[in-house]
Amino acid sequence: PAAELRRTTLPAAMSVATTDSSGGAGIPVDLKTMMACGVFAECCVCAITAQNTKGVTHIEELSPVAIRKQIDAVFDDIPPQAVKIGMVPSIEGITAVADALEANKAVNIVVDPVMVATSGAKLINDDAIATLTSRLFPMATLITPNLPETRVLLETIGSDLVPESEDDMEQAGHLIAEHYSCNVLVKGGHGLADANDLLVRTDGATQWFYGERINNPNTHGTGCTLSSAIAANLAAGASLEQAIEQAKLYVSGALRQMLDLGSGSGPFDHAW
Ligand code: PLP
Repeated sequence: PAAELRRTTLPAAMSVATTDSSGGAGIPVDLKTMMACGVFAECCVCAITAQNTKGVTHIEELSPVAIRKQIDAVFDDIPPQAVKIGMVPSIEGITAVADALEANKAVNIVVDPVMVATSGAKLINDDAIATLTSRLFPMATLITPNLPETRVLLETIGSDLVPESEDDMEQAGHLIAEHYSCNVLVKGGHGLADANDLLVRTDGATQWFYGERINNPNTHGTGCTLSSAIAANLAAGASLEQAIEQAKLYVSGALRQMLDLGSGSGPFDHAW
């Protein structure tokens, strides 16, 4: 009966990103991850992709007005305690996201600087990278580049370092954190033997997060999952270090389920 209905609260987190029709990456996996991490999941769709485990066949963007209206609507009613920003392909889209998050005083922003999919598909226009770094990095609590993205970010600040080793990651992390004044988690999984990631804070403090490599060829959506789990954990009140540590445990646990769907690099199991 209605009289027994009790209103409970739950921290909320929001994904500002792009859909993946196959459910393994982007907004669908962000929402699955946030719910699995115990927070209420909200989203702003910036673009859609037609894609499956074999590749991306179409990308279509929403208008800046549609982006603004989604973010305003969410903040007007159930404001999230953390926001994850993923794939936003264009200057116009990134500008709309930045303007909306600024106007709504968003906090705990985790930026996954998504550039290229594992399948090779380009997920951001070349001319939009400067807008990503100039508008979104200053508002970020954390940015989470993988090694190929770290290399692109190094190029934007005039460094020709090709990060491959843990020493390179230390150097890269300091250069990026200093230049862009934001905390950076350099993710080593694309180059190191294990999935070891390095946090470099704006004050120069560093911390390694170690993760054993899990021999699973189905890794579609790993980066999306990690950044949305970090955002969810921040929304639930974790410190940045705790949020990263718990997010890595979540990704490893999901990968260990050894789900094998699709004929390409498949998604992993969020219902474990
Ligand atoms: N599709 C969308 C919408 C994404 O946001 C991403 C990554 O962020 C990808 C695809 C690529 O995922 P992966 O490189 O893990 O296959």
